[in-house]
Amino acid sequence: MQNKIVILGAGESGNGTAILAKKKGYNVFVSDIGNISDRTKDCFDQLGIDWEENRHTLSKMYGAQYIMKSPGISSKNPLLNAIKSLKIPVLSEIEFASKYTDATIIGITGSNGKTTTAMLTHHILKAAGFDVGLAGNIGNSFAKEVAENDHKYYVLEISSFQLDDIINFAPKIGVITNITPDHLDSYDHDFSKYLKSKLRINQNQTERDFLLFNADDPKLNKAIKQIDTPATIHSFGTSFKDSNSTHLNNDQIVIKTKKNKTMINTLDFTLKGRHNLLNAMAASTVANLLEVSKETIRDSLLNFKGAPHRLEYVLKIQKINYINDSKATNVNAVYFALESMISPTVWIVGGVDKGNDYSLLYPLVREKVKAIVCLGVDNQKIIDSFNSFVDLILETQSMKEAVMIAHKIADKNENVLLSPACASFDLFKNFEDRGMQFKKAVREL
Ligand code: ADP
Repeated sequence: MQNKIVILGAGESGNGTAILAKKKGYNVFVSDIGNISDRTKDCFDQLGIDWEENRHTLSKMYGAQYIMKSPGISSKNPLLNAIKSLKIPVLSEIEFASKYTDATIIGITGSNGKTTTAMLTHHILKAAGFDVGLAGNIGNSFAKEVAENDHKYYVLEISSFQLDDIINFAPKIGVITNITPDHLDSYDHDFSKYLKSKLRINQNQTERDFLLFNADDPKLNKAIKQIDTPATIHSFGTSFKDSNSTHLNNDQIVIKTKKNKTMINTLDFTLKGRHNLLNAMAASTVANLLEVSKETIRDSLLNFKGAPHRLEYVLKIQKINYINDSKATNVNAVYFALESMISPTVWIVGGVDKGNDYSLLYPLVREKVKAIVCLGVDNQKIIDSFNSFVDLILETQSMKEAVMIAHKIADKNENVLLSPACASFDLFKNFEDRGMQFKKAVREL
């Protein structure tokens, strides 16, 4: 009899899993509690994949060998309790996809910096001639890639939700960029649960594998000391360590492994900020472990363009710099954005607050922020948090208004920085829409 798989959720992960499972001969049933897009339905119909929308019918799940839960579905969803009684293993898309490929996997997780580090790693490996794909939270799902391309190497951007339902998934090189409070609402507001979820990247690694982690992150540093793993643990960060470490020495990234010591000059590295140097250290270390030459790593660092909406330089107008950091949806990302500002800054901030503690930003705001332009439906928390150290705090309700006001306040050689610390859903479709509207408003000044 044909094996059956039930796929919960018909977004990017669900769609990719359905395509791969069908290709591998499964009887596939996709169930989504919301609407499924017409494009996805057409694709399912063409492939002969059974689906339902706006409901989950438990009886249709009987007899499945696996249930794939999309990362967007909360583990607290009552459906999952009901599924437990069926005793069918629940797995994530990356778990299912990894069963069907022998590719070498580089898995990148963390609270901030995943996209940038994954893109940079992919960029270096491509330049070195590797047959490498980039997938996961970026672009195609891993499952779709395995179904349609099957490269020899994959750089995967992996969220904690995707790690929650792994069983055997093990990257050859796992990277944890940092762990700061984000998505805590999904982890019972318990930081240790969130931390544990990120550390799952190492759960099945063996002595042939590597775990790279940011040693500048105190909580992560402490957690790594407590794990017991056969994998080689390699730290990256600004301070010096003896071996299996990557650190900075003036403008050089110094990578020390058991086999060699490699120094890479970072002068003229295009991305700004200490956080991007950490991302570069992680990506360079991955490349070094895969025996990419230091020349290729250096050239790739110099011509890497960076991802849009991440500390993205937009324009200089009347000697004022405009910077789009719309992807900064938490306090830690804003911290690094403000830290990298070298002249007074008009800061556009606000949106849907996910339980922010702004106190981490007080010293930087005091030092660097000339005025705050709030852009959100409810700005009271921002006003209350900063009014004792910023003289000018204004409220706006549209991007156009925010940019026009910021332009009036900023003087020559100063910055206007959009770095919201919040999600975008009150006034925008998503962070991309917010960033695009910022760039449009700047161009129209
Ligand atoms: P993610 O994919 O984890 O959300 P991104 O690379 O998209 O990470 O960056 C998200 C935000 O975090 C951006 O504002 C970016 O400037 C900032 N950022 C990037 N790398 C780091 C890092 N290593 N530490 C802290 N913030 C970072």
